[in-house]
Amino acid sequence: MKPVDLRSDTVTQPTPGMREAMASAPLGDDVFGDDPSVNALQEKIAGMLGFEAALFVPTGTQSNLCGVLSHCQRGDEYIVGQMQHCYRWEGGGAAVFGSVQPQPLAHQADGTLALADIEAAIKPDDPHFAKSKLLALENTLGGKVIPDDYIEKATTLAHSRGLAAHLDGARLFNAAVAQARAGGSDARAEARRIAKHFDSVSVCFSKGLGAPVGSALCGSRDLIAKARRIRKMAGGGMRQAGVLAAAASYALDHHVDRLAQDHANARKLADGLAGIDGLKVEAPETNILFVDLVGDAREKSAALLAHLKSHGVLAIGLYRLRFVTHLDVDEQGVDRAIGAIRGFFRA
Ligand SMILES: *Cc1c(COP(=O)(O)O)cnc(C)c1O
Repeated sequence: MKPVDLRSDTVTQPTPGMREAMASAPLGDDVFGDDPSVNALQEKIAGMLGFEAALFVPTGTQSNLCGVLSHCQRGDEYIVGQMQHCYRWEGGGAAVFGSVQPQPLAHQADGTLALADIEAAIKPDDPHFAKSKLLALENTLGGKVIPDDYIEKATTLAHSRGLAAHLDGARLFNAAVAQARAGGSDARAEARRIAKHFDSVSVCFSKGLGAPVGSALCGSRDLIAKARRIRKMAGGGMRQAGVLAAAASYALDHHVDRLAQDHANARKLADGLAGIDGLKVEAPETNILFVDLVGDAREKSAALLAHLKSHGVLAIGLYRLRFVTHLDVDEQGVDRAIGAIRGFFRA
């Protein structure tokens, strides 16, 4: 039997419909700007999120890199959270390739950066300091939805001090779908509402949206022209990339609203693990469930993961296990995971 793979939402396989869209996509050479499928995707995502332009890139890492380096020059700095992908999980790319200094800040419990901390981190114009040029936020962050009123306050603060604002929205549509459910509104309208506070937004098609490859950076025409140059330098200029853009475009048409199912599955998993001695289950807001091993169970993560693997359930973590739901995990898969974990704890 195929394992229930809860390691990440990046593990999804393209659906038959998506493969068909890829197979029939009209193609050109995107480095010459004439791949119709790439151009259509860029227009679609830019329009959806309320931006003038967008750039299709191979990865979210490259999208963030293009974003940060389009806003910041050598010797500038960006203010960012300790746990954010574009600080912690991208090999220090902005510093390595762009000589842009990160100014990381600790997160509050809800994932936000305290406004007072942001304020204090913005440097005066003084030769001792790097120039503070950008505030980078992430939504969702570890599966948490960053509150709208906070985003408005933080980006307004940044803009009032002359900084631009970038959103790593790898899972923007998970945030949008969760907000739409809470407010009885439309996910696309929510995505646009979140995006409007930012000068640039990066979204991943290869996470919950289920495309095999690809991200987009959205921004003004000027910003995206700069980003295109950086993408080229980073080796991200792809040729008949329409075969990939078609998958992303299909995902935007068919896989946004269904993210609600992933969120329901994450809640089902959390509910199914309630009351097990040694597990502290954090209520999931979207598709990522964190489970802490506590007390006597603390040292058991390797044994638990091995037990799960032998029962056809894959997850990752140490003391704090992570389970991510996605397109290729259904309710039966969640039941299998609950059964395997309960079996380990004989609970
Ligand atoms: C996955 C992820 C990225 C980067 O994506 P890659 O395509 O793996 O480079 C960026 N930001 C966040 C928040 C992510 O989860």
